[in-house]
Amino acid sequence: MIDKSEMLINILERYDVRYNPNRSGEQSVSCPNKEAHDDRNPSCSVNIGKGVLFCQGCGLSGDAYSVVMVIEGVPFVKAIEQLGQPYTISESDFLTI
Ligand SMILES: [Zn+2]
Repeated sequence: MIDKSEMLINILERYDVRYNPNRSGEQSVSCPNKEAHDDRNPSCSVNIGKGVLFCQGCGLSGDAYSVVMVIEGVPFVKAIEQLGQPYTISESDFLTI
């Protein structure tokens, strides 16, 4: 069982995104995809409880894996590696966003 909230928090910290850790519902943050656009007015909405985010600016969306895949331009397997997750993850874990 993978904790998607935990993983998304890792991502937010990795890309220096300011967020409110005490808020499990939706909140607006600046987009972690800094290469895509300069997001001074936070246009990315993140839901830490669900472990997902969606950016209205660049269309970045999904869970921690999707974010790493898009920002780092790596395939799923590499994203798992970067997130320090074991390979025992099943495809269905990924699809239950
Ligand atoms: Zn964005």
